[in-house]
Amino acid sequence: MKGALIGCGFFAVNQMHGWRDLPEVEMVAICDRDPERLSIVGDEFAVDRRYQSAEAMFFDGGFDFVDIATTVGSHRALVELAVRHKVPAICQKPFAPTLEDAKAMVAAAEVAGIPLMIHENFRWQTPILAVKAVLDSGAIGEPFWGRVSFRSGFDVFSGQPYLARGKRFIIEDLGIHSLDIARFLFGDASRMTARTRRINPDIAGEDVATMLLDHDSGVTSIVDVSYATKLPEEPFPETFVEIDASRGTLRLGKDYRLTVHGPDGTRENRVAPTLLPWASRPWHNIQESVALIQKHWVERLAAGREPDTSGRDNLKTFALVEAAYLSAERGETVDLGDLL
Ligand code: NAD
Repeated sequence: MKGALIGCGFFAVNQMHGWRDLPEVEMVAICDRDPERLSIVGDEFAVDRRYQSAEAMFFDGGFDFVDIATTVGSHRALVELAVRHKVPAICQKPFAPTLEDAKAMVAAAEVAGIPLMIHENFRWQTPILAVKAVLDSGAIGEPFWGRVSFRSGFDVFSGQPYLARGKRFIIEDLGIHSLDIARFLFGDASRMTARTRRINPDIAGEDVATMLLDHDSGVTSIVDVSYATKLPEEPFPETFVEIDASRGTLRLGKDYRLTVHGPDGTRENRVAPTLLPWASRPWHNIQESVALIQKHWVERLAAGREPDTSGRDNLKTFALVEAAYLSAERGETVDLGDLL
């Protein structure tokens, strides 16, 4: 399978490593407006076909899918370009600047019959997959309450300076992953209540958000995210999970410790991610999930089946982001049905 990449920035390097590890994939072309990024990534991954214009790259063609790793402002135009050229596309999160854009992108891909996957990789993290496996095993019964929590004081702005400038920050950038994990574990949600704060005076957007979700399954969940939390031990980029269920409880805590308590007793084990040869701590948890979602894409593309985080699926995660901002702004609960 031949692939092409658009956007050779900070995160795309992980994606190129992931593709290189998949024997069935060869990345044959790359594109970035910035010639410096183009040569850094082109040289590191030995890709000869290099373009500063995505249009020129599609015009030349010769690849079976495109991996779009640019920032959000360009996602709609690039996905629509891929659709026009009938090339299956992966698009980084956040899906689009607005829910209307995201809906238009899904519609365009569906009309053309082109697979579209959002690179929503957090549900592919080994510890999150371990939590899901416990739920699916029935060991703790039916969940009725959950919490997905990401609280950190890590300086994300040095690697990704654009994060300090956007009017929207933590929900759109990080909370989007946590909300997707809540959907993955507890099913779709129909109502959202959110509160936000900005603690860091040097950034434009919110850096703290607390969200309450009503899931169709009957689960009530809290999704709380913060980049203003100074802890004695920095947990970045670990997601903590708490689940209370009819027969027991589950806790995923610091250093990937998973505690499952049920009628048969208490089991504690570590569900740490693999440190891939090209990965570096503390990012290795996220880096491994990149490799896993790419494998999923290749398998689904080959089988002609929709990926789990398809554009259609991700509309429901993206709608939760929109609902959170609306709820925080209005001080009201927002019905997801009004958005989707
Ligand atoms: P970045 O700014 O470092 O890289 C983006 C690159 O895209 C830049 O080199 C820029 O020149 C290029 N670019 C932008 N528009 C272009 C266009 N129209 N044509 C060609 N090149 C273009 O950004 P980043 O930090 O790598 O983030 C990229 C995306 O990845 C963002 O949407 C971000 O939210 C996402 N991200 C995802 C994860 C994750 O875990 N899934 C983690 C970090 C970042």
